[in-house]
This record gives sequence, structure tokens and C-alpha cells, in this order.
Amino acid sequence: MNLAAPSFRIAIVGGGVIGLSCALEFARRGVSVTLFEKNELGRGASWAAAGMLAPAFEAAGEVDAHPRLFELCTASAKLWPSWAKRLEVDSGLSAGYDGTPAIAVSTSRTDLNQLQTLARALQERRVDFQRLDASELRQIDNSLSDRVSHGLRLPTDAQVDNRATIAALVRLCEQSALIEIENRELNLSIQEGVLSSSGFDATLVCAGWQTPHLQTVINGAPSLLETAETSLACVEAYGGQMLAVGRDADSPTHTIRAGDLYIVPKADRIIIGATVEPGRVLSEPEALVIENLQQRASDICPSLGHAKVREAWAGVRPGTPSHAPMIGATSVAGLFAATGHYRNGILLAPITAKILADTIIEGRTSKLAAAFAPAGFIPEAV
Ligand SMILES: Cc1cc2nc3c(=O)[nH]c(=O)nc-3n(C[C@H](O)[C@H](O)[C@H](O)COP(=O)(O)OP(=O)(O)OC[C@H]3O[C@@H](n4cnc5c(N)ncnc54)[C@H](O)[C@@H]3O)c2cc1C
Repeated sequence: MNLAAPSFRIAIVGGGVIGLSCALEFARRGVSVTLFEKNELGRGASWAAAGMLAPAFEAAGEVDAHPRLFELCTASAKLWPSWAKRLEVDSGLSAGYDGTPAIAVSTSRTDLNQLQTLARALQERRVDFQRLDASELRQIDNSLSDRVSHGLRLPTDAQVDNRATIAALVRLCEQSALIEIENRELNLSIQEGVLSSSGFDATLVCAGWQTPHLQTVINGAPSLLETAETSLACVEAYGGQMLAVGRDADSPTHTIRAGDLYIVPKADRIIIGATVEPGRVLSEPEALVIENLQQRASDICPSLGHAKVREAWAGVRPGTPSHAPMIGATSVAGLFAATGHYRNGILLAPITAKILADTIIEGRTSKLAAAFAPAGFIPEAV
């Protein structure tokens, strides 16, 4: 499909980091967009995230992940610095990008095993990293506890203040003459495998974990989108809870990964996360869970134990069994999808927008992008 003609219009359903990034990229390529968001722009999972941009820690050593997820994550991580710079220049706002490498540490035998697995995976993939002993770790970040014995420095893994990124994206979308924002749902209707959305030449659904459940009239009967595009049925909700504490002189200065716990310093706060709760659509955090996260963080950085909690929250990630997103054309003519970004939606926003603009506007796709297209999607790990 080639939509380069100026009269073409694309509808986007869902204004999270994925919908906003796509809207902006389509507009930058000269195509008109209407972005449908039923709540507030950017306040779903994209607001709840910790903003880690972590191809190595999230995708390199994951045995049950999609075979090309690491490659996709790495490609997007490489786009981030210039993508963030352009957001800043165009919006006049900070995009919050921070290229300081993350460190992965261990305080237990289990964490150490995980570090060793990660180091082997990075070596096999020829990805740069450094092993650190206890004293080297404390030289890099003196907030670390004496219990931290081993670590890896991960130059591939950066971070961003995702709420700053969202603010910059929202400003640019609101200012663009080619983007219209509608605060409502779009009626989807599919007749004999063809989407009919009046006034639009293509429709992109990126409603996060709710994408499979979008109300859709299929051959005249009310139904859910996953009934027509069955690859979406594997997208599930993964609840997550986190907190932020105040930042002071003793606070960590680096993103610290320790097993399933992470500590992410922002300019004005330290984020501590996160739970991964399959099937849970959480709207509020639970006090005991938040207390437990802070306690575990204080085993790694003792100063966090008495830091004042500034905020606690819950969010819902869209995930697939292979932890990979689904990006591209669906089996329904005129319908495109971008969902299932799991723990990497912030990281994958630039590449997702690029893939969809290439696919929908230019009518071309790369081999890497094709591996994540809904039609040929690999739901299970191989
Ligand atoms: C606790 C937590 C920590 C995370 N940490 C990280 C991290 O460190 N790094 C990282 O890269 N990723 C992280 N993630 C994952 C990341 O946040 C998600 O993958 C990403 O935000 C998904 O973006 P999205 O735009 O698909 O979804 P969302 O941000 O949820 O946006 C979807 C939007 O669609 C709207 N919508 C839904 N239904 C409709 C409808 N019918 N009509 C119109 N609009 C609709 C919703 O209101 C919402 O605004 C984290 C997520 C959580 C929850």
C-alpha cells in the first residue's frame, strides 16, 4: 500500500507512547492522522513505566523470548539518542534521555546465576559489557550495600524519564497541523475481512493491553477485535506495581538491576520496581507489595530504606508469551496493529513508529520487521 498522496488519512486508536510516536512519525512523513484516545493521552502503561531502555538485561539472556527480540530492542536503543534529541529540539521540552550505563548486581546465589547467564548470552552475541567486583561497583555507585558482591556494567542499557518523553510527544502531537486528537473511541467495523472506518484509508490499533478487546462489529454482529484478528488473542495484561522515593546525596546514581528488582534514578526521584503480575488489571498499588519492594531495594542501597515514599502506582503492560511486540499489517485489510510491547514499550517506541510508517506509508518492510508482523507472529518461545 502506498499512502503518500496528501489526501490519505490514518486513524490511530490509543494515545500511549506507541500511538503518540506513530502519530508524530506519520505526520513527519506528511500524512494526516486522527488519534483516538478514550482517556487522557499517555496516562496508561506509558506513564506507569520506569523508562529503562534495556536491550541487554531485558532481552539478551531471556531463554523464553522471541528469537529476534534482542535484535529489535538493540535497533531501537540505537535510535533513541537522536530520536530524543529531535523531540527536544522540536518541542522545546526535555525528552529525559540519560545514556548512563546500567549496572546489574547480585546479592544472592540466584541473582549471581542470573548474572552469569546474562554474561554468557552477551558474550555469545558479542555485546560489550564489563565484569565488576565489589570494590569497582562501589567506586561507580557508592550507594551500594556491602552485600553486593558481583556486577556487570551494561553500556547498551540506558534510561529515559518516560513522563518527560510523553509530555514532549503530547506537545508535538497537539501542535501538529496534520494530527487531530479525538477524545473518544473509534467505531470499528469489519465486513468479509475488510475494515471499514469511514474517512480513513488505514487504521492502526495500539490500545495497549486492551487492543484484543476493542469493540468491533464483525459482519454485522457486535464482537471483539481478537475474533477477527486472532493473532491478537495472545496479548495479555501483565500488572505491575512500583514506587518512587525522594532523591538525596546518598541516593543511587545508576540504574541498578538485581534479579527482578530495579532501582532507576531520575532527576528528582528514585523509582523502585516492579512486580510482574500476569492476568492482573491493576489500577491501584497494594501497600504490602510497595513496602516489600522498598525493603528489597534497601538490601541493595541501604539509604533507600528510610527514604520518603513520594508516589506509588500500578500499571498494566500488554504482553505476549514470547515477550515480543506485534507490529504491522493484520490479516484484516486496512487494519494494522502495534501492541504486546510488554516490559519494553518505551524502549521500542522509536522503532515501532519507524516500522509502521515504512509499512503503511511507504509500503515496504525489512526482514527484521517482518518477524514481528501480526500475520507471521511467533506467540510461543522457540
Ligand atoms: C510497572 C511498569 C514498568 C515498566 N517499565 C518499563 C521500562 O522500564 N521500560 C520500557 O521500555 N517499558 C516499560 N514498561 C512497559 C511499557 O510501559 C509499555 O510496554 C508501553 O507503555 C506500552 O505502550 P502502549 O502505548 O502500547 O500502551 P499504553 O501506554 O497503555 O497506551 C494505550 C492507550 O490506549 C488507550 N485506549 C485503550 N482502549 C481504547 C479505545 N477503545 N479507544 C481509544 N483509546 C483506547 C488507553 O487509554 C491508553 O491511553 C513498564 C510498564 C509497567 C506497567
